[in-house]
Amino acid sequence: MTDGIAFNRLADLLRDRGEPTRYQGGALRTRGICHDGDSPGTVAIRRGANGGVVIFCHKCQGNTEFLAALGWTEADLYDQPLTESERRARPVDDTWIPCKERGHHRVAQYVYRDEHGAVVQGATRCNEKCFAQWRPDPAAKSGRRWRLTDDQGNRLVRTVPYRLPEILKAIAADRVIWIAEGEKDVHALVDHGLEATCNAGGAEKWTAEHAQFLKGADVTIVADRDEKGRKHAVAVVETLRGIARSVYVVQAREGKDAADHFAAGHGDHQFLQVWAPVPHPGDRGAQS
Ligand SMILES: [Zn+2]
Ligand SMILES: [Zn+2]
Repeated sequence: MTDGIAFNRLADLLRDRGEPTRYQGGALRTRGICHDGDSPGTVAIRRGANGGVVIFCHKCQGNTEFLAALGWTEADLYDQPLTESERRARPVDDTWIPCKERGHHRVAQYVYRDEHGAVVQGATRCNEKCFAQWRPDPAAKSGRRWRLTDDQGNRLVRTVPYRLPEILKAIAADRVIWIAEGEKDVHALVDHGLEATCNAGGAEKWTAEHAQFLKGADVTIVADRDEKGRKHAVAVVETLRGIARSVYVVQAREGKDAADHFAAGHGDHQFLQVWAPVPHPGDRGAQS
């Protein structure tokens, strides 16, 4: 295949293999070849805002297994030709994770990019739900290092929200930005046609640095239905004060999080609104 668009190469490959595909919610859907599934909508395939192809299997909760099933590597996810800086920023092509010695294997890798599409860091999850983060480092043999800080605890990479290039485009287009607790929920939201983001590392790791990118945005936070989720949502609201144009907090109608909500068959208008600060979070004195 010589098509310079990774999305087209993948669509061709699926067609050549006789895999069923259909378009729904702006994504090409196919079955979970990775887990031998037969539901035709399990895997969502889209073009990234900066090119390339983004694949997410909702059963496997990632793309590692799907790529393996196709015989693709992460390098295949990029459109060609890559510029030199893109080549340098490309995640290394291996599935090693720090807990591999314990017999775990990677099920998902999420790549965090800056506003120009360059890789800032990666976050991985294994089949036993260990989370790990890495940063690109051309000096390392593997091309990355599995810590984001130096020996003094100083952060060595920028702090960016997940899907930053997509989020910036969405804010410019006046779309609502949904903030979830983790990447799995972000993909559930995106798969339902929404624009969503989160921070790396899970609950209570959202910072003012993440919030800076949401200037003027209308934000809806999906709070997980537990104490950690409530605290996370409150912390996110706090960072958005005076930055976001509006902030709503909602919860899943059923289950714990956005993925559960959609899995139970509810739509994006059926989240339960739990808090609607007006006009800015915490700015209650300004209400008339
Ligand atoms: Zn799968
Ligand atoms: Zn693990």
